[in-house]
Amino acid sequence: MAQIFTLIWLMVLIPVAVVSQDYDAERSSMVDQQILNRGIRNTRVLDAMRSVERHHFVPEQYRHMAYSDRPLPIGHQQTISQPYIVALMTDYLNLKEGEKVLEIGTGSGYQAAVLAELVGQVYSVEIVEELAHRARKTLDELDYDNVHIRIGDGYKGWKEHAPYDAIIVTASPSDIPPPLKDQLAEGGRMVIPVGGPVFQKLLLLRKKEGKVKQTDVTSVRFVPMIDEEGDRH
Ligand code: SAH
Repeated sequence: MAQIFTLIWLMVLIPVAVVSQDYDAERSSMVDQQILNRGIRNTRVLDAMRSVERHHFVPEQYRHMAYSDRPLPIGHQQTISQPYIVALMTDYLNLKEGEKVLEIGTGSGYQAAVLAELVGQVYSVEIVEELAHRARKTLDELDYDNVHIRIGDGYKGWKEHAPYDAIIVTASPSDIPPPLKDQLAEGGRMVIPVGGPVFQKLLLLRKKEGKVKQTDVTSVRFVPMIDEEGDRH
C-alpha cells in the first residue's frame, strides 16, 4: 500500500519538477542569449532578469512562449515587453539599492518585479483597471511587497511620492510629459519611448542642476500612452 502511495506521489511530483526545471533552464538561456549576448553586462540587471519568473506574468495560453525573444499579448490590446527591452531600459536607469522608482504602464507587472529586485520602492501607474488588479494579484502571489500600484493616467505621474531617482515609461506619448520631468529627482534618470503611434525613439533623460539633458538610445515600438478617453497623449 505504502509503495502505491509513493508511486502516486512521484507521478504527481515528477511532472511538476520537470516543468519548473524547464522554466529555470529557459530563463537562464534567455538571459545568456538574448541579453548578455547583446551586450548588457550590468550584473545586477542580469541577476534580476535571472530571478524574476516571467512565466507567472504571461497569460496561460502564451506561457510556453514566456521566455521567447518577443513581446506577448496580455489582453486589452496591451503587451508585456520583449525581455531584452526590459533589460535594456532597466540598464539605462543605472539603479542603486534603496532608490525609489516610478513606472508608467504596469501592464503585467513584470517590469515592476524586475525593478523591485533592484531598488527600495517601486511606484507603478496603470490606466486599465483590470490589468492593474491582475498585476497586483501576481505580484502579491510572488511576495513583491515593495511594488505599489495606482490606477490612473500616468501622464501626470504620481505626485505624492515624488521625487523619483528614476522613471521608466512603458507606453509611448508623442512628447515627454512635463509632470514626469518635474517629478524626477536631482541626479535622476528617465527612459521613455517618444514619437509616432507605431515607431518611437527611446530617450534617456538626466536631471542635473535642475536641467534635463536628453540622449537617443535606440528605435523601439511601444503601445501608445492613452488618456482616460482612450485618446493618445
Ligand atoms: N511594463 C509592462 C508593459 C506595459 S505595456 C509589463 O512589464 O508588462 C504598456 C501599459 O501601459 C499597458 O498596460 C497600458 O494599459 C498602459 N498605459 C497606457 N497609457 C497609460 C497611461 N496614460 N497611464 C498609465 N498606464 C498607461
